[in-house]
Amino acid sequence: MNTKEIRQLFPILHQEVNGHPLVYLDSAATSQKPVSVIEAVKHYYERDNSNVHRGVHTLGSRATDAYEGAREKLVRFLNAGSAEEVIFTRGTTSALNLVATGYARSVCREGDEIVITPMEHHSNLIPWQQAAKATGAVLKYIPLQEDGTIRLEDVEQTITERTKIVSVTYVSNVLGVVNPVKEIAAIAQRKGAKMVVDGAQSTPHLKVDVQDLDCDFYTLSGHKMCGPTGIGALYGKRALLEEMDPIEYGGEMIDHVDLYDSTWKDLPWKFEGGTPIIAGAVGLGAAIDFLESIGLDEIDRHEKRITAYALERMSDIKDLNVYGPRSDRAGLITFNLGDVHPHDVATVLDAEGIAIRAGHHCCQPLMRWLQVSATARASFYLYNTEEDVDRLIASLIKTKEYFGHAIG
Ligand SMILES: *Cc1c(COP(=O)(O)O)cnc(C)c1O
Repeated sequence: MNTKEIRQLFPILHQEVNGHPLVYLDSAATSQKPVSVIEAVKHYYERDNSNVHRGVHTLGSRATDAYEGAREKLVRFLNAGSAEEVIFTRGTTSALNLVATGYARSVCREGDEIVITPMEHHSNLIPWQQAAKATGAVLKYIPLQEDGTIRLEDVEQTITERTKIVSVTYVSNVLGVVNPVKEIAAIAQRKGAKMVVDGAQSTPHLKVDVQDLDCDFYTLSGHKMCGPTGIGALYGKRALLEEMDPIEYGGEMIDHVDLYDSTWKDLPWKFEGGTPIIAGAVGLGAAIDFLESIGLDEIDRHEKRITAYALERMSDIKDLNVYGPRSDRAGLITFNLGDVHPHDVATVLDAEGIAIRAGHHCCQPLMRWLQVSATARASFYLYNTEEDVDRLIASLIKTKEYFGHAIG
């Protein structure tokens, strides 16, 4: 399928915004959904809706099959060892909180260490900060190079025998850096620490194999990979998940309940208290089918092409500063246009039907490291074209002329 054919599968892209054809360049915040995902959710509600894991009736077993079928797709997609290792969550944020609360707080003691980086999304920072405070563990940061990349020598230095957990994003949602998480996982494990990978920005764009990465935990969000909002997952190595206590108690996760004590279901249901996000899981399953039908390698190649083209066109605009490394980067570009506030840039672009992001991107410590209060960000996905980039560039040049006095 070429990009034009792919675009046909995304109804939302075919509309005018403020009198201009929409150019959507904010997929790193949330991706758009193909018709097959929308249809799968609709079909589920029209035909199969029921609660899971308890109905003796036909709709109950259809809903259970749909939900567990989506889990099987995810197991295959990530190359997890088994269905026991894949837990449905609300998204990356709740998956990371599950590890930080259910695992970190029980293994960390006073003086132990949790290691992360300054480029982490707040979702991969605050849960560790709070776990460190609660346990007396020390939160340590792997330093960044000037271009925002990490050096393995620094990883070696930062992780010690006292480190219990290392948690790093695979792809930075600001710098576009692709971190060497496989190598970091190997270092962490050699020193006796567990490796957590924030996969919110990698899963939509790269072929991920959790067994090859050999990470202990991996998280993802459905809505960034063509699926619905409200669904995501935590992958964890079975032995670790067996050890971990649930953090949410209630229906669906119990085996036997007495007045004063209870026992839990087996994995993965032990961590899925309450009625799960069934339609969301169904939609995520359809999103996986969709991404596999295009091919993750093809998606990666396409984004690299678009990003390289955009970087080249942007380099012609004077006073436009791009953050992050020049090469080996993912499909997003964070920038500032002289001294123009990024919110003003985004507002002018929106008036031309172009959606980009402006702000701190849930990375306030990284903004301070970059010595800016905010930035603009254009992010690309499989449905973006070179014409989208041309529209972006034309509008940035116009913006620059409009705010000319602020630049120079
Ligand atoms: C979006 C994002 C998150 C948070 O994902 P949610 O879907 O909001 O839970 C975490 N880390 C990174 C790198 C992200 O881009």
